Amino acid sequence: MRSGGLALLAVLLIAAMVTISWAPNRSLSSVSGRLPHIASLPSPNSVVPFGSASLGVNALDNLAAPIVGLAATPDGQGYWLVASDGGIFTFGDAGFFGSTGALTLNRPIVGLAATPDGLGYWLVASDGGIFTFGDAGFFGAEGGAQLAAPAVGMAATPTGNGYWLVFGSQQRPLAGKVVGIDPGHNGLNYTAPQVINQTVWNGQENEACDTTGTATDSGYSEAQFNFNVATYLQADLVAEGAHVVMTRYDNSGIGPCVTTRAAILNNAHADVAVDIHADGGPASGRGFTVLEPVADGPNSGVIAASDTFAALLRTTFLADTGMPLSNYDGIDGLQPRNDLAGLNLTTVPKVLIETGNMRNATDAALLVTPAFQQAAASAMAQAITTYLSGA
Ligand SMILES: [Zn+2]
Repeated sequence: MRSGGLALLAVLLIAAMVTISWAPNRSLSSVSGRLPHIASLPSPNSVVPFGSASLGVNALDNLAAPIVGLAATPDGQGYWLVASDGGIFTFGDAGFFGSTGALTLNRPIVGLAATPDGLGYWLVASDGGIFTFGDAGFFGAEGGAQLAAPAVGMAATPTGNGYWLVFGSQQRPLAGKVVGIDPGHNGLNYTAPQVINQTVWNGQENEACDTTGTATDSGYSEAQFNFNVATYLQADLVAEGAHVVMTRYDNSGIGPCVTTRAAILNNAHADVAVDIHADGGPASGRGFTVLEPVADGPNSGVIAASDTFAALLRTTFLADTGMPLSNYDGIDGLQPRNDLAGLNLTTVPKVLIETGNMRNATDAALLVTPAFQQAAASAMAQAITTYLSGA
């Protein structure tokens, strides 16, 4: 149980001071044409009055949980603040009628509403659960159900004999992000050697436009594997809100050239990208390798970001797929490469992953299964989400 009360009066600011220092941005910018000085930005866990509102609160210190809501008293001479742990802070003529601060909540508090006479209040949690205090009555709740959408706030009716709960939507972690996927090779490359054997300039040297890719001893093609993983990955990323751009959308075509693949993802301004492959290494060799770009001019701006992503991908892939680090390529699963167009020409953070060795019987047995392909995609999605959340 916590009540601010008189102990917190010390942090109250005079309304005029607050109003001046936190004038609305639009009036300042319309006069000066510039953003207001940084000192006028609100502090964490503070209250800023506008118009006829008074009683500001400067930063509340040492809170166990952030402030998430405010309700005013009937005469506007005070208010309650609620923190996400249900702690209540009273200001002005607001009375204290209890809090959930001493309880362990299943879900955070997201808002509150006051009763019409100011002698009670409701708290609402993100699962739609309602907590009543003082003369606040209970009129129903959604708490306990598995909600598709979180509660984000509430308001009381003027009589105090009811309330509205407001439900928002899940904030998807990759909303607004663009992710590039390059599934290496293509299913019909083997039919068109005159196309894929053309040489293209990869920024360092000539390279074949594309290759057929490798295959397992039983004939399962790398092109098919790459495309399957890419398709699972696309679904995972779209579910998280990302816009996904791929260099090919089926496994029944030829190409495009590796230079074109790089250009597609560059032109999409991908926030991060991955080239998906499986290796055709020595039959005795096992494991996966993440290939990283080497600075060469076009890609120099994305080396550090690519290295960060490479490290994340190595971690999630090792943890989630059962595929070991390569014992024949790279060092601890990482290998810089300056001979690949996809890495030389990239202007977006990118790595190429050799997800396993198709010429090794143990790796091949994993690679051909939908379970491994889904796990590989999931590991990539996790690394991408972590990378983009921290970027
Ligand atoms: Zn390949």
